[in-house]
Amino acid sequence: MIKMFHILNQCSIYGTNKEFKYDFIRKKEAVMNTWIGRMRDVLPTGAAVGCDWFAQSARNAVIKSTDGREIIDFVGGIGVLNVGHCHPKVTAAVAAQLEKFTHTAFQVVPYQNYVELGEKLGKLVPIEGKVKCQFFCSGAEAVENAVKIARAYTRRNGVIAFGGAFHGRTLMTLALTGKVSPYQADFGAMPSGVFHALFPSETQHISVEDAVKSIKRIFKSDIAPHDVAAIILEPVQGEGGFNVCPPEFMRAVREICDEHGIVMIADEVQSGYGRTGKLFAMEHYDVKPDLITMAKSLAGGMVLSGVAGKADIMNAARPGGLGGTYAGNPLGIAAALAVLDIIEEEKLLERSQYLGDKLKQFLRDLNAPEITQIRGLGSMVAVEFGDDDCPNSEFAAKVKAIAMENNLLLLTCGAHANAIRFLYPLTIEEELFNRALTILKNAFEKARQS
Ligand code: PLP
Repeated sequence: MIKMFHILNQCSIYGTNKEFKYDFIRKKEAVMNTWIGRMRDVLPTGAAVGCDWFAQSARNAVIKSTDGREIIDFVGGIGVLNVGHCHPKVTAAVAAQLEKFTHTAFQVVPYQNYVELGEKLGKLVPIEGKVKCQFFCSGAEAVENAVKIARAYTRRNGVIAFGGAFHGRTLMTLALTGKVSPYQADFGAMPSGVFHALFPSETQHISVEDAVKSIKRIFKSDIAPHDVAAIILEPVQGEGGFNVCPPEFMRAVREICDEHGIVMIADEVQSGYGRTGKLFAMEHYDVKPDLITMAKSLAGGMVLSGVAGKADIMNAARPGGLGGTYAGNPLGIAAALAVLDIIEEEKLLERSQYLGDKLKQFLRDLNAPEITQIRGLGSMVAVEFGDDDCPNSEFAAKVKAIAMENNLLLLTCGAHANAIRFLYPLTIEEELFNRALTILKNAFEKARQS
């Protein structure tokens, strides 16, 4: 299959030799007749796909491929499946909702389960005082709306985000994202008013003091603090490498926001919903944000995102200023209510902590010389190879590829894709989890030998 990928890539390089040319055309036709070929024919280059197999069905932590493989899923659709693929309670809730109605556009005709979810989340989010919620579709849409709300509340324009952050692929969230390639490169000027400060990271040699100074430098050289609407940060950076925000830095950001009347937004799109051993990663800290964005595991595989925040801030936008045709889709809402029940009934917060601790211990026991850091909260764990000066991205790629050959799906992350992140369903069976760790151990050994 991988070979076929390559053949297609070569097909545009026709030689002058006729036989050579016809050979390429024949090979191209053969590839085009496969699903991989057909996919390549349909997709533009910018839509990169990570696997050379297709999903047929999936349950809990296993994906069955169309060619009969059973793959252990340690990616969970990039952190979307904390309750596993097709959890019976999620599918039952969605099926029941399907029988009632699939869409009304909430802003035209409201439905009660939306309100119920808002009430429940209002009590669960780590935000002080009266909380209001609004639901959208994607993580990026939640972040866009959080920024709009902060701007409407403060009547200011600027936003400070962090290096290594990932907030989405729409233009504003791209501007907030702190990684140029492949996200921003080639897409022209980004929306103005966004500034990046440093995010603390041991392996990037950025201390809490450096990071605080970098915010203050922005206030001196780029934008006055009274023009800044929001500071947005991920309590644990996702795409950036599962960098955990140190508590003292979180406190410092809160203090800066309080001092200058800036809205503090915690982007919990990836860190939320039990991944870190708490429902929201901000519960690990002794300060609270003003707004929280959520998506991914919120609806167990259905499309839903949300913003929760202090009522006075959430109320800043005028009627009709926030919304969207599909925002808060009833199927996603039904799934999200089921997800909250599952997390409680199956004690997934405890399980997240247990599995994360077990994984960290396993990684420490590997004693692999390539490992520079094992980090994370709960089950939001990553292992890094090399550091910012000398990233060992090659080793991460090899481990990932060898694991895949042995039916374990992994994902890299970090500034140089030199870390592997683990996003298995928290509902994964113990036996399957152990089997995955054995595959991982072998992948480390083989990667070292290759
Ligand atoms: N924010 C964070 C922290 C994320 O990890 C992501 C996606 O990975 C997003 C925002 C964007 O979410 P989406 O891809 O649903 O737009």
